[in-house]
Amino acid sequence: MTTDQPIIRLQNTKSRRREEFEPLDPKRVGIYLCGPTVYDRAHLGNARPVLVFDVLYRLLRQTYGAEHVVYVRNFTDVDDKINARAAEAGREIGDITAETIRWYHDDMDALGALRPNHEPRATDFIGAMVDMINELILRGNAYEAEGHVLFAVDSYDAYGALSGRSLDDMIAGSRVEVAPYKRNPMDFVLWKPSGAGQPGWDSPWGVGRPGWHIECSAMSRALLGPAFDIHGGGNDLLFPHHENEIAQSCCADPEAGFATYWLHNEMLQVEGKKMSKSLGNFFTVRDLLDEGISGEVIRLVMLGTHYGKPMDWTAKKRDDADATLRRWYGILAGHGFGPALIKALKADGQWEPDAEFLGVLANDLNTPGAIARLHVLAKGKTPAQLAGFAHGLDLLGLVPDWADLPRLAGGEGGAQVDDAIAQRIDALLDTRAKARASKDWDMADRVRDILTAAGVVVTDVGGQASWAAGPNFDAAALVDL
Ligand code: AMP
Ligand code: ZN
Repeated sequence: MTTDQPIIRLQNTKSRRREEFEPLDPKRVGIYLCGPTVYDRAHLGNARPVLVFDVLYRLLRQTYGAEHVVYVRNFTDVDDKINARAAEAGREIGDITAETIRWYHDDMDALGALRPNHEPRATDFIGAMVDMINELILRGNAYEAEGHVLFAVDSYDAYGALSGRSLDDMIAGSRVEVAPYKRNPMDFVLWKPSGAGQPGWDSPWGVGRPGWHIECSAMSRALLGPAFDIHGGGNDLLFPHHENEIAQSCCADPEAGFATYWLHNEMLQVEGKKMSKSLGNFFTVRDLLDEGISGEVIRLVMLGTHYGKPMDWTAKKRDDADATLRRWYGILAGHGFGPALIKALKADGQWEPDAEFLGVLANDLNTPGAIARLHVLAKGKTPAQLAGFAHGLDLLGLVPDWADLPRLAGGEGGAQVDDAIAQRIDALLDTRAKARASKDWDMADRVRDILTAAGVVVTDVGGQASWAAGPNFDAAALVDL
């Protein structure tokens, strides 16, 4: 971490306090996010944790270096909901999970979410789950009963600490399955038997399959180790899923402590109401993309609300985000931003985050505050003044491709420049550089006038010229000297 990096603060569900983030090892910062159960297209609510943790991932990479952050997000590809869907559709389970994972990648890529470093599928870690369950039995935290293995909640004193519930309250308020073989009604399944037609793996307890909670404990342990930095998910997972993950992991590795920081995003609503199929306000990320709403617009709307607050998707927010992004892209395209200018700014040491923007973002991922700061930074008048603005947009993942800026800004295709034309522009700039070197100001001005007439935006940074075809680019105006 360099000295000018901000202090990251995170609201830790475990302590219920906003704490300064101190990684166990700054050379290997670990995050685990509970991923989707794969049997259906991701709905808009599912995209919220993905985008929240994508911004956290980007901020950690900016702070500790990209190679020092390990982000894991799993696919739950063994689950009774998947079995039910396969039976209903008369299809193979493996077809459904493979197709859903493909969709998930397409949709989350379209939202500009970086792929995590590891995306483990639960079915690839059954051995690790069986091992962990065995250890829990040996340590006296789990027991076998009628082909099931159950976690004994009475064996773990801190059970309920994350969600702040006592065992008695849980039992009183719960709808848990009452089974005669459970010692305590809150005991939960680590392993269950599989019958014919159900996916099953050999185990010391017969052919069966894992419960959902043990999947995340085993996969995070395998990929991040028994102790790591941040564990996240929607707050609908706080209880029982995360409570159970903690019980399993802390009992299997009592010295380790599991995740230091627990981060939970609040839920997404639509026009003030819970998203649900019966209210007719249920839609998938793909539905929105198919309507022509871009991934960047969806992303900007999402980041407009702090992750710790319920977020409301509305048509007005969508339209406002669309207008804001067009304006912002237009400002940047108009000042020649693109891969070449960014390269020049980097070479010149000017491709740096704005300190205030970064400080606001680092304060518990205050994305609305960071966006407010971008509105101020957008008033810059030169590429150097706009560098922090461009860097901020980039850090929030709002520029899918810098080479594509003119199109994003709403330019009409004219900005696509083929190689032959690019070479002519390069040659003109070369002529201008030579003219300037020999103080032939007439020639330098003539070149500038030609490029201006053709709608080419030229930017000089650190003695290096770079150019971009602006929204009004007209190749026919590139007359020869
Ligand atoms: P699932 O596939 O249902 O386990 O959900 C995957 C992720 O989406 C979990 O992290 C959930 O917390 C999250 N999630 C589900 N519904 C919503 C919602 N309406 N708003 C925000 N996050 C949600
Ligand atoms: Zn999980």
